[in-house]
Amino acid sequence: MADLFDSTSPTDTFPGLPEEVLTVWHRHSRLHAAIAIHSTVRGPALGGTRIRVYPDLDSAVREACNLAEAMSLKNAVAGLPFGGGKAVLIGDPGTIKTPELLEDYAGVLNTLQGRYITAADVGSTQADMDALRDHTTFVAGTSISRGGSGDPSPMTAFGVLCAMEAGSEQIWGTRELAGRHVAVSGLGKVGSELVRLLLGQGCRVSAADSSDQAIERARAAGPVEVVAADQIHQVDCDAFAPCALGGALNDRTVGELGCRLVAGAANNQLSAPPVAEALAARGIVYVPDFVANAGGVINIAHEYLGYDERQARAHVREIFTTTATILHRSGEQSMTPLAAAMELARERLAGNA
Ligand code: NAD
Repeated sequence: MADLFDSTSPTDTFPGLPEEVLTVWHRHSRLHAAIAIHSTVRGPALGGTRIRVYPDLDSAVREACNLAEAMSLKNAVAGLPFGGGKAVLIGDPGTIKTPELLEDYAGVLNTLQGRYITAADVGSTQADMDALRDHTTFVAGTSISRGGSGDPSPMTAFGVLCAMEAGSEQIWGTRELAGRHVAVSGLGKVGSELVRLLLGQGCRVSAADSSDQAIERARAAGPVEVVAADQIHQVDCDAFAPCALGGALNDRTVGELGCRLVAGAANNQLSAPPVAEALAARGIVYVPDFVANAGGVINIAHEYLGYDERQARAHVREIFTTTATILHRSGEQSMTPLAAAMELARERLAGNA
């Protein structure tokens, strides 16, 4: 951990060291967690609770810190009055989530007095957020019946559509997507809604999922052309939307892409940052994942501040303008869209934009 919290590190401002990291252990509930608050410069740190097995505490802390920093970027670029944070609960989500553990975890959130606001992430669900809400107010993304905004996935999908429109304007001079051929990988909560939106726009849609059930659900939504999950990125199309797991874009798959534009919902789409350069070298416009998929967190942030669906949707629609700004800057300054988005995030974290 020394390299993570080296007090002599010159990177004591963004990006780099988190403001605060808390590790907790509660014997009775077996709550074992790490909470990283990367930045509260723009407001309370907002980011989900990930629950999974980690080999050791160091790995959990490291993941919490990396994810918290990513949330600072995402929230800043989305223009939210929130910083970035993330919690990881160590253990199997199928077994550790007892009412006692969730109550203890809510107690930890209370001790942070609102410096960190949580929401659902991998391994945690809306029902878990509802359970936390019984004991803390520092949680968002609860169900509608509990006064929350419900599943954020439709807003995430809408945001991806807006990012795709901005990419379309940059490449083809029009935001109009009608007639465009889009390949969607992953037909879960976000991907299936994106397919519905794209069909509604008059797009031709190719789609893939590793689950037959998900494919059947997508087929029921309209005329999609089903492609094998390991070949969807190769489809000769206008846009590719990675909406499954992270790492879809790597040195191999980038060379095989058949699209001009990539805009999707998956987190961590690039296996490594240099892949952004490989995409640019092939003339493929890549909308950074944390720009395209911010619709969900925007919706959750609006819930926390007092939900009005119309206002939340209008804010998600701004992903179009933000993407256009990033792509414009990328072209003007001969930098990748990823570098342009990082630069915008830094400016916003420094209060300059
Ligand atoms: P989900 O679990 O509902 O759906 C994921 C889908 O991907 C599943 O249908 C699964 O079968 C499929 N899949 C898994 N591996 C695959 C593969 N190799 N090829 C093709 N399909 C595969 O998840 P979701 O909520 O739709 O989220 C999708 C992605 O977007 C995730 O990376 C998530 O982190 C990210 N994301 C989601 C939200 C949101 O609001 N739900 C917000 C931001 C980012």
